[in-house]
Amino acid sequence: MNNNSCQTCGTDVSRRDFLKIAGASTCGIAVAALTSGEALASSNEGLPLEEHKAMLYDSTVCIGCKQCEAACKLDNNLAEEDVNDLSGNTFTIIKEYISEDGTESAFRKYQCMHCVEPSCVASCPVAALTKLGDGPVVYDEDVCIGCRYCMQACPYGVPAYDWSQAYPLIRKCDLCYDRPEGPACAETCPKGALIYGKRGELIQMAKERIALNPDKYYENRVFGEHDGGGTSFLILAAVPFEKIGLPPLGNESLPSHTHTATSVVPGLFAGVAGLMSSIYIRTKDNEDDDLHEGGTT
Ligand code: SF4
Ligand code: SF4
Ligand code: SF4
Repeated sequence: MNNNSCQTCGTDVSRRDFLKIAGASTCGIAVAALTSGEALASSNEGLPLEEHKAMLYDSTVCIGCKQCEAACKLDNNLAEEDVNDLSGNTFTIIKEYISEDGTESAFRKYQCMHCVEPSCVASCPVAALTKLGDGPVVYDEDVCIGCRYCMQACPYGVPAYDWSQAYPLIRKCDLCYDRPEGPACAETCPKGALIYGKRGELIQMAKERIALNPDKYYENRVFGEHDGGGTSFLILAAVPFEKIGLPPLGNESLPSHTHTATSVVPGLFAGVAGLMSSIYIRTKDNEDDDLHEGGTT
């Protein structure tokens, strides 16, 4: 059995210990954290940034066919729905920007940007969100306590709550991190608007495209090379990035933007999160017992 120390009170706890003291709720954060990332830890070795898994989206090549959306739905078993934004069942969506006078238009693929220093990860008190050492930002539903801090922390508005579940879950693109062929969306794109590869090589490719066609692209800039501390989802566009909904973040890492908001609550949060995780784990444990009993009779 693994034992971890609570980051709040320093007590050594195991998950079993926690279940005994669940009513007290003070060590909920530690217990939820100690269950986190066990299956993911082995891939969290930390490759150099230029070797991180990444995707380049060239908006100037995209025709808005939405085949990437369909491929994502199919590969992730997501239900069809009529929405105009990311949701618990829509991990990626193509939107079109058209200028008021109709002379300018551009597509944008919305999805998780797989930030180099993700604010969702920094804001999560129980490490339910993890930045893998090779780039993707992934989620462990067994650890999540549903506080939704990540939703407030993400400057791109990516994490969504899936209310269709008995225990609502945070849902988002995980860069198809465990798919041997790479992301389903990139594999499907008929125009080569989505290219999967190593971050360093994709940035180089993007810069070569700009150099070959400087008038085609907005500025001499690849969105995500530095923005918000960098991302693994890189974007080229013919219009200013703000016009296709990308926030002007500067080059500072994202957690530095959200530090103030997340640093004022730990005392209060420790109690609330502990209580929430206590209730969550106890209820889940009871359900697991019920399932186990049902399966053996
Ligand atoms: S885009 Fe949002 S959800 Fe995705 S890694 Fe960055 S902060 Fe996290
Ligand atoms: S990388 Fe995978 S999960 Fe993410 S948008 Fe593409 S298909 Fe969907
Ligand atoms: S499949 Fe490719 S071309 Fe079609 S909407 Fe998606 S990114 Fe654009």
